[in-house]
Amino acid sequence: MRSPLLVVMFLLALAAHTVHGQKRCGTVEYMQLQRRLGKIKQSDEQFEQWLSGQRTIFMRQQQARQQSEPYRIPIVVHIIHNGEPEGTGANLSNEQILSQIDVINKDFNRLNADAGNTPAEFAGLAGSMDVEFVLALRDPFGLPTTGIVRINGGRSSWSVSQESEFKALSYWPSDQYLNIWVLNLSGGFVGYAQFPVSNLPGLEEYQDGIAETDGVVVDYKAFGSDDYGSFNLEPDFNKGRTLTHEIGHFFGLRHIWGDATCGTDYVDDTPQQRSETLGCPVHPTTTTCTATVNKMFQNYLDYTNDACMNLFTQGQVERMQLILDNPAVPRRNSLLTSPGLLPPNCSEPDVAILELAKPGPVTCNNQPELFIKIRSLTCDPVTSLKISIRINAAPPLINDYNGLNLLSGSTTVLNTNSVNLQPGVNQIEIAVVEINGTLVSASANNTYSSRILLDTSTDRIPLREQFNFLTWPVISPASGTQWTLTETNFSQSATFRAFSAPDGPHESWLVTPTLDFSTTAKASMFFDFSYAWNGTDNDRLRILASPDCGDTYQPLTPPFDRAGLALANIISTVEWQPEDESQWSRRNYVNLNQLAGLSAARIAFVFTNRQGNNIYLDNVEFFLSDDPSPLFLSGGPYTVYWNTPDEARVTFNLEERSDVFVEILDMTARRIAGLQLHDVLNQTYTIYTGTTSPGLYLFRAHINGKRYAMKFMVTR
Ligand SMILES: [Zn+2]
Repeated sequence: MRSPLLVVMFLLALAAHTVHGQKRCGTVEYMQLQRRLGKIKQSDEQFEQWLSGQRTIFMRQQQARQQSEPYRIPIVVHIIHNGEPEGTGANLSNEQILSQIDVINKDFNRLNADAGNTPAEFAGLAGSMDVEFVLALRDPFGLPTTGIVRINGGRSSWSVSQESEFKALSYWPSDQYLNIWVLNLSGGFVGYAQFPVSNLPGLEEYQDGIAETDGVVVDYKAFGSDDYGSFNLEPDFNKGRTLTHEIGHFFGLRHIWGDATCGTDYVDDTPQQRSETLGCPVHPTTTTCTATVNKMFQNYLDYTNDACMNLFTQGQVERMQLILDNPAVPRRNSLLTSPGLLPPNCSEPDVAILELAKPGPVTCNNQPELFIKIRSLTCDPVTSLKISIRINAAPPLINDYNGLNLLSGSTTVLNTNSVNLQPGVNQIEIAVVEINGTLVSASANNTYSSRILLDTSTDRIPLREQFNFLTWPVISPASGTQWTLTETNFSQSATFRAFSAPDGPHESWLVTPTLDFSTTAKASMFFDFSYAWNGTDNDRLRILASPDCGDTYQPLTPPFDRAGLALANIISTVEWQPEDESQWSRRNYVNLNQLAGLSAARIAFVFTNRQGNNIYLDNVEFFLSDDPSPLFLSGGPYTVYWNTPDEARVTFNLEERSDVFVEILDMTARRIAGLQLHDVLNQTYTIYTGTTSPGLYLFRAHINGKRYAMKFMVTR
């Protein structure tokens, strides 16, 4: 539990800075937090060492190289509001958003109207980047977009510690778009950026984890410029320079004072400053490090008010170009060739089949309707569709849908006429064949194949499955390797041999027969598993429950969903085979109260093969209680004890479900309790006796024609 403490430390650091209102930028603190959380492993020193090597190479090539065309950077602005009408509160108007885009296009190209305010001594150092920031023309699906996404986040404000939440609300792939999140940012900063990292050997794996957060965050009262209209902006941050500053960080610029007393920003033509500059001083203002010089507080990477900033230097521009030109910096260079810069492709209508939502891969329903989840990748609304369904070798059935109004990019679920499934495995082929009256040819997008196992086997709880035979249904919906049986220390165990499976990644299902839970108000399951993680490939195990014999499957509450290290008992790069009980995770408890009372429920063990290592499953036991720590007997067939003076308890461990008669006799051979039990297997039963005196009692049980008896004491 290290992250909450770190967040608190981060917030305290914020609070210390906010005595005098909002602070310009949280990028340095944000990057420190990301490092402490382990999301970014590269240190500033490692990055700068790498970059200075790159700079030497770059300078050598510089003579030959000319930037012929402007850089073009596709932007997506995510407006995270709280349900306000457009143009109110955090739900900024398009006009205000466009004013901000215009500001960065002017500032980076030194076309800003206040360029003339740069003092004469710095004017010759001012640089122009030759860059065009473009609101994305097509979205990640290739569809038309304004480059502005509006999302109701359901909160009036957000803190930095909630960023994984608000960034997940709306995110476009950060290797193709510069993501800019605009919201009511609490905690004092008006903006922060994710700094670039380099592709150093050994650090690549950390880049994946930070892709989803890459981009810039700006407070809604610091986004846009009041030179363009009457907008609700903080007086100090009212010219759109927060985004100029933060995109500077996004392209690798550091604060002009180097975030230390007389630190370095690794740029040669910015004067060394002792510290940041606040407010809006009058030029010249001096600073003393090795020498006393005039501060360049007009630089976008200082902390002055928006109205007092007006330049990047040529050295800063060169550093940003070095980052942008370098394919070894993830998610910067790739922006320049993003499809987001291209007009949308509207020439051909397209509808993608996302999944077969219903029925599940193992079902008892031989005439189900198919529920197909689709997404429109057509620029115009989709009003009519024809979908073809082919089951096994039967002729395809065409399902017609008219009167639809499926907007570009949106998803929906369509159900078909019912189809006939054969016992066993059924091959299902689904294809979109016509959109808005136009025939479409088959593509990876608009076709989908899956397998459904029609299985009508039934059983009831209590139940113990030891996998001496594999009688439970197994299927891999996308075909491929399946669960099987292997000999282990538990005799036979169910296993998925991911170590040698040639065909990952795919899902493989091991499902119970349809189980009757109708006679119980509570239910639970225990199971043993053994999995070795190979250190790289994150195989995954989920447990799903079906209330309707396999039509639908849902996660449990709470869910069981583990992968890789979180699933593993052990780390091993050789093919895994457990040899004794210590190599298993034993008696994992699953509460199944959500299925109690249902007559046709199923449990599915869904393994996702990523070709890591083998998993083994055994000793699945279902109980008629939700007790998370019931008594497990290692020997048989039962044990009996007094719970209270008027209540005895007997716990069974029988080979198979049996009818059992139990009775308790006192010293005079008088029967004080008797109970007929059905389907006894592994449970604990309570036997009410009425008030008993201290002394010796006799317990008798009749199990499968055999009689058992034992004496037990009541003491006080
Ligand atoms: Zn900053």
